[in-house]
Amino acid sequence: MTTFIVLLGPPGVGKGTQAEILARSTNLAHISSGDLFRENLKNQTDLGKLAKSYMDKGELVPDDVTIKMIRDRLKRDDCKSGAILDGFPRTPAQADALEKTLAEFSGQVDKVPYITAAEDILIERTGGRFTCRASGHIYHETFNPPVKVGVCDIDGSELYQRDDDKKETVTKRIRVYLEQTMPLVEYYRTRGKLVEINGDQAVEQVTQKLLAALKT
Ligand code: AMP
Repeated sequence: MTTFIVLLGPPGVGKGTQAEILARSTNLAHISSGDLFRENLKNQTDLGKLAKSYMDKGELVPDDVTIKMIRDRLKRDDCKSGAILDGFPRTPAQADALEKTLAEFSGQVDKVPYITAAEDILIERTGGRFTCRASGHIYHETFNPPVKVGVCDIDGSELYQRDDDKKETVTKRIRVYLEQTMPLVEYYRTRGKLVEINGDQAVEQVTQKLLAALKT
């Protein structure tokens, strides 16, 4: 038995924060495509350099390289019982590739919580967001502040603001999301996997709704 959860929703809605919490409480691996790209960027790999040119513009990294990266990640041992996927898939081609990859080890996407919020809220949230340099833990100066300003509660590393969390890039990322990722809402709804969750609530309330949705 495996459990694969795809978290769907626009940039800034809290997917990353919720994915971390869910992964901890379910003991499933947390796979964030954005974190994997940022890790490659930090290590100056060819993939990282390629991804940077798209990330800086708020555009999607091409499907072929993104799919390969996630396939490799899903084959690792910590995904044997499943994973929480955060930021992948983002296009119908990626969703098809995910279905095929999971079928190779008799798995499937089990549930797709779709977290929503209005655009002005997304811009406000990404604007105040800080990410930990060591492992990508996420904070918000108002909604989810660290105990000590500028320092990650979990591993003590420095918190920084992502370049692509600047307002112009966020607006572009939201547009890209509406054009390229929104079709996935129907994709998963028609397969009976979509569960809508209101993301305009406190972090703990969203977590409660998510945990309840995963049990149904
Ligand atoms: P995120 O951390 O999920 O907001 O992702 C940051 C950036 O990484 C995105 O704006 C894209 O440039 C790139 N990215 C992350 N996930 C994907 C994906 N599934 N497909 C294509 N590009 C992605």
